[in-house]
Amino acid sequence: RLGSPRLDRKFNSPKSNKVRDDQGLSTSIHKDQLYLIIIGHVDAGKSTLMGHLLYKLGHVQQRTIQKYEHESRKLGKQSFVYAWVLDETAEERNRGITMDVGHLKFETKTKDVTLLDAPGHKDFIPNMITGASQADATMLVVDATKGEFETGFDSGGQTREHALLIRSLGITQLGVAVNKMDTVNWSEERFGEIKTKLGLFLKQAGYKESDVTFVPCSGLSGENLATKANESLLTCWYNGPCLMDVIDSFKPPERAISKPLRLCISDVFKSSGSGFSIVGRVETGQLRVGDKVLVQPQGEVAQIKSIEIDELPQPIGLAGDFISVSLTGYDAQNIYSGCVLCDILLPIPVTSVLEARVVVFNVDFPIVRGHQVVLHYQSSSESAVVSRLLAELNKSTGEVIKKNPRMIKKNTHALIKINLSRPICVEVYSDIRQLGRVMLRSAGTTIAAGLVTKVNFNK
Ligand code: GDP
Repeated sequence: RLGSPRLDRKFNSPKSNKVRDDQGLSTSIHKDQLYLIIIGHVDAGKSTLMGHLLYKLGHVQQRTIQKYEHESRKLGKQSFVYAWVLDETAEERNRGITMDVGHLKFETKTKDVTLLDAPGHKDFIPNMITGASQADATMLVVDATKGEFETGFDSGGQTREHALLIRSLGITQLGVAVNKMDTVNWSEERFGEIKTKLGLFLKQAGYKESDVTFVPCSGLSGENLATKANESLLTCWYNGPCLMDVIDSFKPPERAISKPLRLCISDVFKSSGSGFSIVGRVETGQLRVGDKVLVQPQGEVAQIKSIEIDELPQPIGLAGDFISVSLTGYDAQNIYSGCVLCDILLPIPVTSVLEARVVVFNVDFPIVRGHQVVLHYQSSSESAVVSRLLAELNKSTGEVIKKNPRMIKKNTHALIKINLSRPICVEVYSDIRQLGRVMLRSAGTTIAAGLVTKVNFNK
């Protein structure tokens, strides 16, 4: 891929207003970083909601919206104006112009928020998996329209699968945008009905009530998105937070600056001559210009030539930063998305066997020993086989219910052993949370997701 990495120009991503000293630690007007993933059934209004929010926050030029209004009117698709804001980015991403994971940024009072994976596409689930493995918090969008919420929620709908997947990856903070409230005349009763039904399911799925906030809104009219609601039919019974308030109230994760360096490469770009640069998120630790780092799984050393954050040169990158790095002393042919730059003395484990505690979804066939799967982790995937079923576990306590079960049925929790066709870089979840999440897919669907409990073992 040619050309240098850049963020989409249409979105004025908040420039890093961090001022760093040589230690890289003094940050003057520092805002917490939050990675947010948007989930929900197709057509729930995810793209419209986020597109409209970005527009309200001034991240989309008036000109762009006017252009979409004009084009959509011609096609008789006026209602898609705001969704196009996100879709265009996705299109650019498909053409390989922007980064593989579309990063859209905006600011709340206390946070720099990065939206993971512009949604609204058919291939949303695979995209979502990449995003989910990096998310700190989730916004679940449901359609309040009569019959539509039910379609998304009942068997076959994506609402449950997404919410389960996210929870099984250890993400606990959830906002629920009860969208399209304009279609039910801002009915308090309808909002209450959805809140009760979904709330019960979320509780059973392991979300704490105090970690879940429901917000009535309309992505199309823009009501209750960036500012508190004006609509009198809503304000007569609702006085709670708007969508932005909920996003602002999510707790940022602890950024593990003192842990060993782990930078997961999400993309590699060739620049002029023999040079190249990589982009990715510093999950833990820090790196400075001049540092020698280990590239895993290759186990080879490279040196940091320069670091950029939001296109500005920096002497240092810290845990939580999404950065671009140029490397020297390394052959670009040997580096790819999924590689990890690490501390030379304390590198990330490279393993072709792992044990994981997983949640099995609503699968058609139980998982048996020898089941062929694709293991997704970070932004990569690898073919694998479920080589042992170690135990079936209690959903809430995690205690062993049955050792060495013959099969693992749908909607159960289990401990399994997985053998990979090639070694990958992965951490035990309790060591480095961010790098210990995995998902299993088979025949085009996600069958299980969970956390790595052991690597490099033989039994
Ligand atoms: P996604 O698949 O979840 O990203 O959904 P889209 O954002 O593409 O929206 C699907 C359809 O629902 C489009 O026709 C939107 O205009 C419509 N829509 C989205 N939000 C609202 C809303 O708040 N009210 C109404 N009435 N329609 C909406």
